[in-house]
Amino acid sequence: MSAESTSKSHDLVVIGAGPGGYIAAIRAAQLGMNVACVEKEKELGGTCLRIGCIPSKAMLESSELYSEARSAFSAHGVRIEKVDLDLATMLKRKDGVVKANTSGVEFLFKKNKVTRYLGTARLAGAGKVVVESGKEAVELAAKHVLIATGSVSAPLKGVEVDGDRIGTSTEALAWSEVPGRLVVIGAGAIGLEMGSVWARLGSKVTVLEYLDRILPGMDAEIAGETHRVLKKQGLEFRLGARVKAARVKGKTCLVEADGMEPIECDRVLLAVGRKPMTEGLGLAAVGISVDEKGRIPVDESFQTSMPGVYAIGDVIRGPMLAHKAEEEGVACVEGIATGYGHVNYDAIPNVVYTAPEVASVGKTEEELKQAGIEYRKGSFPFLANGRARALGHTEGRVKILADKQSDRVLGVHILGARAGDLIAEAVAAMEFGATSEDIARTCHAHPTLAEAVKEAALAVDGRALNA
Ligand code: FAD
Ligand code: AMP
Repeated sequence: MSAESTSKSHDLVVIGAGPGGYIAAIRAAQLGMNVACVEKEKELGGTCLRIGCIPSKAMLESSELYSEARSAFSAHGVRIEKVDLDLATMLKRKDGVVKANTSGVEFLFKKNKVTRYLGTARLAGAGKVVVESGKEAVELAAKHVLIATGSVSAPLKGVEVDGDRIGTSTEALAWSEVPGRLVVIGAGAIGLEMGSVWARLGSKVTVLEYLDRILPGMDAEIAGETHRVLKKQGLEFRLGARVKAARVKGKTCLVEADGMEPIECDRVLLAVGRKPMTEGLGLAAVGISVDEKGRIPVDESFQTSMPGVYAIGDVIRGPMLAHKAEEEGVACVEGIATGYGHVNYDAIPNVVYTAPEVASVGKTEEELKQAGIEYRKGSFPFLANGRARALGHTEGRVKILADKQSDRVLGVHILGARAGDLIAEAVAAMEFGATSEDIARTCHAHPTLAEAVKEAALAVDGRALNA
C-alpha cells in the first residue's frame, strides 16, 4: 500500500455493484449492517444496467417501433408517408435510459447509507479488502466480504475481437451505423436479441450456431417455433456451424466455420456466452480456487472455501441472469444477518426479448423425459386469443407441463407477445406449488394475453374452451 493509504471498517464489503451486488448491499443496509460497495466503473449497476439488460431492451424497443412503423402500422390504418431511421437519436435515448437507471442506484445507495468506493477491489487476507483507484489504495476491514464481480463476454479462439468491426454485445449496443451484413456467432439470448435489433434496423443478419438448434436449454418445441418465426423475419440461420476464425480484412470481415465457405460481412457480433470475472481479485491469496468453468464454488449459504467470504451472481454456478443474482444477493445477506436465506432455483424465469418474446420457468419436456417424470401437457396458441388478434401479434403459444399424478405445474414455456410479463403468473403459481387446475380455475381478465395461460392450463385436462 502507498503512503497515502487509509483504512476503514464495515460489517459487509460487497465487491461489484451489478444487480447481485447492489441489491445485496441495499438489503444488508436495511438489515442494519454498515455496508460498503466497491465498484471499478464510475457508473453503478454492473453489466445489467450499463451494457446488458437495460441498454439492450432500450434498443429492442426502439428498433421494434421503427420496424412496426415501416411494416405494421398500415394494417392498423395508420398511414405514414416516409419512415426514417435516426440512429444517433436512438443511441442517445438508450444512453439516457442507462443513465437514469445507474443514477437511480447512486440515489438508492445514498438513501440506504451504503458507502460507495470507486476502484478495483482485491482480497488481501481474512477480512481485508484493498481498493486501488489509481491515485491511492484504501484498505477496508470487513466482518464479511461478498464477491459479486459478475461476468465478461467469453472469447472464442480464432475470433479477433477488435472492439469495432468484430465486437461483443458491448460494441453491438453502440454501433453508429447499421452494418449492411452482420454475422452473429452464437444463437443464445444475447445473439438473438442483438441480431434482432440490427435486422430490424436494416442489416442482413446471418446467425452461425454450433449446435443443431437455437436457444440451447430452452424447451426444444418452443425454440423450434422461435427459429421459424425469426427466419420469417429475415434472420438467416446456419446451424451446426462451429466458427473457427473471424478477422478484419480491409474494409470487411471474414468469418470461417466448419463445413461452409467463408462468409464476408461488414461486422461480426461474438455472442458465445459469458465467463465469470475473477481476474485480479486475489482469490489465490486467500486460498479460494475456481472450478473448471472459472466459477467460484460456494455452499448453500453462498460461502466460499474461505469463512466470511461469500459469492453470488454470474461469478458462481447457475444461469447468468440479473434476477437470479438479485435473489442470491438477498438470500446471502439475509443468511448472514438472520441465519436463514433461500433461493428456489426451480422457479427462476428465463426470458429472451425477441419479438415475439420467449419465456420459460421450470422443467422443459426434454428434462422431464430424461428424468423419467410422467407429465401431461396443455398447449394454447395465441392465434385463438382475442387480445392477441386485436394486437396483431398472434404468433406462438403457451405450453404448460404438469405432473401426471399430482397435476402440480412443473414447467411453463411461452412464445408470444409480452411472454416475459406473462411468465410471472407461472412463476408465482410454481412458488405456491399450484396445480394446472388451480390456474385453470383462476379468473383471468378478458380480453388479455394472460387468458392464453388459463386456456393452456385447461388444455392440460383436455378442456380448453377457445381452441
Ligand atoms: P455484473 O452485473 O456483471 O456486475 C459485476 C460488477 O462488478 C461490474 O460492474 C464490474 O465492473 C464489477 N467488478 C468486477 N470486478 C471488480 C473488482 N475487482 N473490483 C470492483 N468492481 C469489480 N440478464 C437478465 O436477467 N435479463 C436480461 O434481459 C439480460 N440481458 C442481457 C443483455 C446483455 C447484452 C448482456 C451482456 C447480459 C444480459 N443479461 C441479462 C445478463 C445480466 O446482465 C447478468 O446476469 C447480471 O448483470 C449479473 O449480475 P452480477 O451482479 O452477478 O454481475
Ligand atoms: P449463450 O451461452 O446462451 O449466450 O449462447 C451462446 C451460444 O453460442 C450457444 O448456443 C453455443 O452453442 C454457441 N456457440 C459456442 N461456441 C460456438 C462456435 N464456435 N461457433 C458457433 N456457435 C457457438
